[in-house]
Amino acid sequence: NGFATLHIDDIYVRKLQALNITTPSPIQAEAIPVILEGKDVVAQSQTGSGKTLAYTLPLLHKIDKTSKDVQGIVLVPTRELGVQIVSTLEQLTEGSGIRVQSLIGGAAISRQIDRLKLRPQIVVGTPGRVLELLKLRKLTMHHVQVAVVDEVDQVFELGSMHEVEAIFKGMLRERQLLFFSATLPPQVQAVIDRWMREPAFVQV
Ligand code: AMP
Repeated sequence: NGFATLHIDDIYVRKLQALNITTPSPIQAEAIPVILEGKDVVAQSQTGSGKTLAYTLPLLHKIDKTSKDVQGIVLVPTRELGVQIVSTLEQLTEGSGIRVQSLIGGAAISRQIDRLKLRPQIVVGTPGRVLELLKLRKLTMHHVQVAVVDEVDQVFELGSMHEVEAIFKGMLRERQLLFFSATLPPQVQAVIDRWMREPAFVQV
């Protein structure tokens, strides 16, 4: 199994196998080893390339499920993408003891605040809502190990990049940043230059 060769935990390899996913796609084969190395990564890839698993599998690898801190965050431009990623993460983490919480704008914030009390290790959210919860002190970025921004170009086009940067400000130095984007406009490159340390660029 190609995912075992990439050092993905057995528990996830078996779950993927049950979904008939056995051979890593090009973006997965390229990105997973570099992410597992701990590098900041900019990955250029289209929807449908398998980019979600390219970052969720290494993200799961880095989560300490005995900890009650938010260690992983995935920021997304839209509700639809967020729902999809939460569903992928829930499938993979079922029965694992890792908790995932959606923090998507448009849904009731009071319910999200309640669910945060269950201490998820991973949150998936839209930048505006995540920032709102940070300001309300219902969430902290202090223990984040891995932060992913998916569809960075869309986040930028929607005008949410300053919110993403405000969220980064709450993180400590020792975190890994992962950007996934179909395109890399100059303004996105500027954000990369501001926040990433010697990023690896992966393109398929
Ligand atoms: P994504 O590009 O992440 O939106 O994934 C697109 C679709 O491809 C999803 O339905 C995944 O379940 C599926 N997929 C992802 N990786 C693989 C793979 N290595 N082999 C087969 N299907 C995959």
